[in-house]
Amino acid sequence: MVTFVSLISGSSGNSTLISDGKTNLLIDCGMSGAKLKQSLASIGMAPENIHALLVTHEHIDHTKGAGVISRRYNIPVYATEGTHIAMTDAKLSNEQIELISEDTEFEIGTIAIKAFSIPHDARQPVGYTFNVDGEKCSIATDIGKMNMNILNNIKGSKKILLESNHDVEMLQYGPYPFPLKRRILSDTGHLSNVIAAKSALWLVNHGTEHVMLGHLSDKNNRPEIAMLESYNILTDAGVNIGDDVTLKVADRYNPTHI
Ligand SMILES: [Zn+2]
Ligand SMILES: [Zn+2]
Repeated sequence: MVTFVSLISGSSGNSTLISDGKTNLLIDCGMSGAKLKQSLASIGMAPENIHALLVTHEHIDHTKGAGVISRRYNIPVYATEGTHIAMTDAKLSNEQIELISEDTEFEIGTIAIKAFSIPHDARQPVGYTFNVDGEKCSIATDIGKMNMNILNNIKGSKKILLESNHDVEMLQYGPYPFPLKRRILSDTGHLSNVIAAKSALWLVNHGTEHVMLGHLSDKNNRPEIAMLESYNILTDAGVNIGDDVTLKVADRYNPTHI
């Protein structure tokens, strides 16, 4: 049975669990070790059951608890070389460091995994696709600009966690200082609701059945706005939400199953 659950999601912290019942993978740990333990307990899981942590990039909303949980529970940490270099604060021992490369498939236990490059203002950031019990599942967040390389990698995913970070107008008229607004809107920032919605449509047209929007900005978005943008673009194109695809928004603080 495939479990794909967003534990927390948003600019305040991100962590996702993927499991086929035999291999349990955590993707990012943007919360403390104690919070992770609580969060996993709420879905009947414990940190001791995690076989590996995969990190997308070094930003704190993805790595806050990475070092602690890796050391405490002796969990290996898979990341690109650039991400490992940038997250030396995690103080991992050599045995815990596992280097991965973009576009090279590898396996952890019973799950096959491939990382793909994403345009984001980090050292060597990636998204991931997983083959879990014959189902393709993907995580695509922290994307400044959607591109064909990403789409080709996540194409055919049955389930996807897709970034829908901000409403462009809320961001433009919102409280963030100008340089931060410019960073988020840049090609190495974050994906807007409208681009997420268009990407979701493309994915649904290529076989995706379950879309979960995530990594929402706290100040420049609201779950109902992100949802409405995707809902409108999908239904305008003739997609029947509920029949053709399930559409959800990942909760900021609580586990949400895809
Ligand atoms: Zn980031
Ligand atoms: Zn992030």
